[in-house]
Order: sequence, then structure tokens, then C-alpha cells
Amino acid sequence: MSRFRMYPTGEQAERMLLHCAHARYVWNLAVEQHASWRPGRRSAPGFAEQCRQLTEARRENDWLAAGNADVQQQALQDFAKARAARFASGFGEPTWRRKHVHEGFRVIGTDRVPESHPDGSPKLNARGRQVMGRSVVVQRLNRRWARAKVPGCGWVRFRLTHAGLPQAKTFRITFRNQQWHIAFAVIPTPIDAPGTGEVIGIDRGVKITAALSDGRKLNCPQLTVRERARIRKHQRRAARAPRGSEAKATEFAKVARLKAREADRRKDWCEKTSTMLARTCRLIRFEKLTITTMTCSAKGTVEQPGRNVRQKAGLNRVILAQGWGLLRRRTGEKAPGRVEDVPAPYTSLRCSACGWIEKDSRKSQAEFVCVSCGFACNADENAAVNVAAGQGGIPRPRRAAGAGGVTAAVGRSSAREPQPVRVGIPLP
Ligand SMILES: [Zn+2]
Repeated sequence: MSRFRMYPTGEQAERMLLHCAHARYVWNLAVEQHASWRPGRRSAPGFAEQCRQLTEARRENDWLAAGNADVQQQALQDFAKARAARFASGFGEPTWRRKHVHEGFRVIGTDRVPESHPDGSPKLNARGRQVMGRSVVVQRLNRRWARAKVPGCGWVRFRLTHAGLPQAKTFRITFRNQQWHIAFAVIPTPIDAPGTGEVIGIDRGVKITAALSDGRKLNCPQLTVRERARIRKHQRRAARAPRGSEAKATEFAKVARLKAREADRRKDWCEKTSTMLARTCRLIRFEKLTITTMTCSAKGTVEQPGRNVRQKAGLNRVILAQGWGLLRRRTGEKAPGRVEDVPAPYTSLRCSACGWIEKDSRKSQAEFVCVSCGFACNADENAAVNVAAGQGGIPRPRRAAGAGGVTAAVGRSSAREPQPVRVGIPLP
């Protein structure tokens, strides 16, 4: 990802926030147009029609006309793309953008550059003329700084943390947690597989974020105890400050900054770890987790309130703080075609040495001692080795097992995994 921290001056930041507001307004109008569609009505306007309506709206509203037309139109373009990709993107139907939360806008490059085919030959149109494409206007200032042209703001500086200047047609500017970022729309080249045929399995857990099948244990950095105490302190002060006061807002801002720091740390760790995995392993196997179901609330309904709601909320928070989903997604993006999801059942109960599956083998959270062959190992590492074996490596237990006895009928268990009762399940 070509994303850099941006440092606008106060004046520029003010203008850019205005751009954000316009883009958000236009986007939300588009959402509303599509949300109010009902069977029997004419279809909601598409991109071209929306652009015509935008021009009309700009003619009638001075405050909208004061903004940049390209920024507003790009918001419509973004919406059209998001809507077209709603079944495949994983984000679903585009929804509302909120102030202070979804602040950002897209800028389309104003430079014209000759376009070329992937093999390097120039792209020609039907008449044999060179096709010109868009390009963003960026300039390198020195080794560490560069600047980009943002409409209405002139040159805005950003910190250049990669070797080269990014080549892109558009970029997106975002404002989150009091930080400006610029992200260029570049598709990064996938990382090549190493020559070695190494297959690695990864077991994601709460105690150890990622246990690798080669014995390494990777942990996602969390907030320190002192930082967590500071969060609680500011939350307490915010709760006691009078409603609507400046003190309350200040305390909340301090909490937000600390939480943003945690998210930054997690993201940084996920990026570095996924790059490491993509560089050193030919095939990367994750156990298949449905994090949305794992972290759903235990709250229940008013008629049927859930139990242990606070505890479940705490566990959910810990799970989400591990960045499981982000690690899987970024690894998949960096090593396309080299990442597999292995169904999770029994990976933590199966002995990776002999294949025996038994609940009693797992002595504690960390300890695994096979009741059949006596193989002892860290439980997470054992699970990671099982994951590395892949989907074919773990046979499902049968209802009527052979020599070892009979397993109980597999019902829907409330436990983390369907667990065989009392008897071990021998392998066929
Ligand atoms: Zn064993």
C-alpha cells in the first residue's frame, strides 16, 4: 500500500476538511437515492445521471459550488464503484459516512501521461493516436519529503517512507484520529515465493497471537499496563466532566489518541508479519476462523437476556485486539494463491505425532500431552502443526469408530469445538 502520513498547514487542513464534508454529503445523498428505491419505482440514478444532478445542485447551492467539482464527482465515482463491487468486495452495500469517522476524499490526477500496454508498447486508439491517461501531480522534495497537488490547497507535503515516488492515477486523502494520510491507488506487485518448498501452519490464539508450526510464537503488541491505566483515567475524568464541556471533549480526545496508538501498533505488526510470511514460506495455512461469529455479542434480547455478557464482551475485545482477520487478509494480498484456510475442528485436540484426537490430551491452555503416545508439546504449536498438515491431513472422526470404541453422536456443542466424550477416536 502506498500510504503516507500527510502534514498540511493549518490553512490547508481547513480546506481539506471542507473537501471531506462535501464528499461525505454527496456520498450520503447517493446512498439515500439508492436506499429509497422500492419495487415498482424507477431505478435509482446511475453515475452519469448523478453527475448531471450534481451539476444542477451546484448551480443552485452556493455552498456546494464553493467546493471543488472534481472532489464531489469523485465521491460519486467512489460510490458507483463501491456499489458495483458490493457482492465481491466484502463490504456489502455502501452505507452512510459519518462526520469525524469517515473523513476523506479522492483526488483524480490532473497530469496527462501517455498510456501503455502491460508489455510496454504504447496504447493507441482506433485512429492510431496515442491514448493519454491521468496521473497525479507529485514532486519529490528531498530524500524524506515529497508533496502532492491537492485542489484548492496547492502543494501539500507528505513524509516519503518508500524508496520511489508512487505512480498512480488517483489518490485518496483521509483524516482519522487527528492524522492526515495520503494513499495512492497502486496495485502492489505480489511477493514471489521463496525457492524452498516450506509449508507453514499458523494457529491464531488469544494468549499467543500466531503460533507457527516451526515453533515460533509471534505476539501482536498491545497497549502497556500503564497506557491502559491512562485510558481508564481519562475515561473516568470524561465521565465526571459536565455534559458538553470542553474538558469532556479534551478527555475523550486523549482516550481516542491512545486507542489509535493501539490500532497503529497492531496494523504495523500485521504488515510486518504478513510480509515476513509471504517472503519466507511457499505455502501458508491458516486455520479457518469465522471471527464475526466468534465475536458476536452475548447480550441477547430484552425477553431473553444473555449470560456472562461482560465476560464475553471482554473476550471479544481481546480477540479483536489480536488482528487475526487483518493478518490473514494482508497475507493473502501479499502472497496471492499461496494462502489456504484449513477447517479448524479438532486441530487443537489432535496429536500432531500420532493423530489421536482426545479432549484429555489438552492438559491446560498451553500444555498438550497425548494420552495415546505420550507426545508432549506446546498446545498452540501442536495445533499449528496440525494446520500445516492441511485439510487432507486431519481425518474427521467417524460416528462409529473402529477399534477404540464409539464416539457420542455429534450434536451442536456450545464448546469451542465439537469434542468427543470420554473415548479417544482412532484413525482409520
Ligand atoms: Zn500422540
